Amino acid sequence: MAVISLEKITKRYEHIQAIHGIDLHIEDGEFVAFVGPSGCGKSTLLRMIAGLEEISGGLLRIGDEVVNHLEPSEREIAMVFQDYALYPHMTIAENIAFGLKMKNNDREDTRQRVEEIAKMLQLSHLLARKPGQLSGGQRQRVAMGRAIIRRPRAFLFDEPLSNLDAKLRVDMRIQIKRLHALLKTTTIYVTHDQVEAMTLADRVVILREGRIEQVGTPMEVYNHP
Ligand code: ADP
Ligand code: ADP
Repeated sequence: MAVISLEKITKRYEHIQAIHGIDLHIEDGEFVAFVGPSGCGKSTLLRMIAGLEEISGGLLRIGDEVVNHLEPSEREIAMVFQDYALYPHMTIAENIAFGLKMKNNDREDTRQRVEEIAKMLQLSHLLARKPGQLSGGQRQRVAMGRAIIRRPRAFLFDEPLSNLDAKLRVDMRIQIKRLHALLKTTTIYVTHDQVEAMTLADRVVILREGRIEQVGTPMEVYNHP
């Protein structure tokens, strides 16, 4: 868990200034949604925080540390994508444990953590199955388990629900909200869906043409009574 702070962050692609000097301070444990029309810079900003896109200017801090030049893996944050690539030949337990593979963990400790996380995500009865034997919603939860097991300092979600049908979207929204209530991990969530932003986020950041247009609680931003 950690504070994330952006100071005058910019991004320039060859011919486009995609992000124009963004200042934003995200509190430890806060759930922040980035919203705005297609092309406003949501993904670019998220990818710079994840370390998947180079930062052109400004400072990015996670905790007390400036992380501009750290590799994604060194930032200790988890990015959850909309298409969750699970390993089809591995069991659900192995898929979740895979999140730890590079970390040289103790076997018994790994087993315990897989069980703990499976319980949290209501996957305990499915640990011996393969991904192909699970529903879409269950597979999404496995993908989240693989991220959670590393105990990241923050979660970054890039439109995680946009490919799901309406029922599944509601289920996953509830799961994500439950998890945040349990783990209190700092979260940034990119979406173009106002309902998702309103129901999930403590604070909403509305982006427009690479700048922050508005920041506030869902009530402040969407003018609800
Ligand atoms: P959003 O996620 O809000 O839809 P993006 O962050 O994808 O917006 O894009 C912001 C701007 O940067 C857009 O003008 C887009 O065309 C441009 N852009 C994004 N990625 C690249 C890239 N790899 N090369 C050049 N321009 C890019
Ligand atoms: P969810 O509520 O997560 O969307 P479903 O209602 O789709 O789950 O699935 C209900 C049950 O059916 C689950 O216990 C799941 O394991 C099982 N199931 C779903 N798809 C398959 C499949 N392709 N093969 C075997 N079992 C499946």
